[in-house]
Parts: sequence; structure tokens; C-alpha cells
Amino acid sequence: MPEGDTIFRAARTLHSVLAGNEVTRFESVYPSVTRIAEDHPIVGRTIESVSARGKHLLIAFSGGLILRTHMRMNGSWHIYPIDARWQRPPQDMRVLVGTRDAVAIGFNVPIAELLTTRQLHRHKELRALGPDLLARADNAEEPGNGVFDKSEVIRRLRAHTRSAIGDALLNQRIVAGIGNVFKSEILFLAGLDPFTPVSALNDADLDRLIEISHDQLAANVMSQTRTLSRHVGRRTTRSLNPREKLWVYGRRGKPCRRCGAAIRSTKTGVDARLTYWCPACQPSYSSR
Ligand SMILES: [Zn+2]
Repeated sequence: MPEGDTIFRAARTLHSVLAGNEVTRFESVYPSVTRIAEDHPIVGRTIESVSARGKHLLIAFSGGLILRTHMRMNGSWHIYPIDARWQRPPQDMRVLVGTRDAVAIGFNVPIAELLTTRQLHRHKELRALGPDLLARADNAEEPGNGVFDKSEVIRRLRAHTRSAIGDALLNQRIVAGIGNVFKSEILFLAGLDPFTPVSALNDADLDRLIEISHDQLAANVMSQTRTLSRHVGRRTTRSLNPREKLWVYGRRGKPCRRCGAAIRSTKTGVDARLTYWCPACQPSYSSR
């Protein structure tokens, strides 16, 4: 699943290329989108902004229409100069927004809908989102996010006392922006066993965990170039060696970069997502 930093970066790049330009071409394979676009044409409108909210990407058009997409597991947004070759087959296109100079394409984006401003404000999924970790990294040009509210995240965590902290970090209703790679990396940096119930953590633990989460996502947004590809350059170790970008994610059985113990992994949750951890640096909560 794309992580918050990926979506944020995609939004920032799309915003810098598209905002202020008139739409000259709009296509979608989704009948619900095309039906609305037939009644309320997108072509001719100005792209006002592109922003990220959690893992939702919002493209706002003049006249109060917003295209909301969610990338889920396999979706991605690409942007190309008008005559450039696409890096994905045309049949993977789900939605396309073109201007005189550029074309933005949502490939395999499983969710796309056109909303009015009013519908956006009332949108259930968006309203339910926890505070966005990247809100503080936002700038004035990109509307959509407020100031990141750490105490609200702690309050929401406390409402899930029986959740394992690893599951809680992935719950976008508690805090928006963390995906599976960052989950494992953040817990390693915090020295916390991913299976620790929230109830076993004190406020200082949670405070520190949220700080680490924010710092990691923000650092990955800032350090990356104008690519929309996934996983490119994601780094948590500060190592300059490109083969040592991550502490634990994807490293099952390999020696911990800090202590040498073998990294463990297991599948958890309904999606059977992999959790990686170092049993020595992240001792079991029952032994803390
Ligand atoms: Zn270790």
C-alpha cells in the first residue's frame, strides 16, 4: 500500500504541474465519474489545487468539483509531458486529467469519484480520518490540511487500548499517513514490540512514537525528488548505502543493523500484512 509520504509527494508534484491550468482533456473508465462529467464538464475548468488527505488524493476544479481518488494497494498517479510515452499500458488507465502541456494519469486507481465541495465536506471516509502526519509539512500553496494535532492522535490511540500498537499505527482513523513499511520502521526506531497493546504504553511512549512517525514521513517527503514512483528512495536509516535504506522491513532472517539479532516477521491483521521487527531491540512488551 502506498504510504502517506508517497501520496503527499504525488499531490505536491501534480499540484506544481497542474494548478492554475485549464483542463483540456478528461477521461475515466468509471461510469459513475463519466456520468457526472457529462452533466458537469470538467474540460474547460481550471485545476485549482491538488492535495493529499491521508491516502486520498484530491484534485479540485473551479466551480466546486473535486476528483477524489484512493490508490489502495496498486494504484499510482503519473504525470507526463503531453507527447511523452506512458510507462504503463493504456488499459491500466482509470482516470486522466490533461492540460495543454501535461497529462496526469491515475493507473489502476481503484477508487475515483467526482464530488461537490459540499459532498467533500460531508464525506464519511474523509471525516473519519485521524490527524494527518504530514499536515505540518504542508505549505500555504496546498490547501486541505490543518495543523497536525498530536494530542488528538493520543486521544484516538487511547480509544483503542486493546489494539496492538502495530495495528493502531496503520488505522487511518487514528492517525493518517502510515503504511506497512513505515509501521515496521517506526516501531523499530521507537524500540517497541509491534504487538504491544496500546494500554501497555504510557503517554510519553505514545508521544515519542508520534514524533518519530512525523519525523520519518516528513524526512521522506523532503528528501525525495519529483518522482511519483513508489518506494523510490524511501529511507529510514540515514545510511548513504542504497542497500541499507531500511532497518527491518523486508529483512526477515537478516542480522539487525544495530545488534546483529535475526530480524523476524509475521503476517498480521485481516490483510495478512507483514510485520518485521528485531526481537532484541524491540523486546516483548511482557518483559518490559
Ligand atoms: Zn536489533
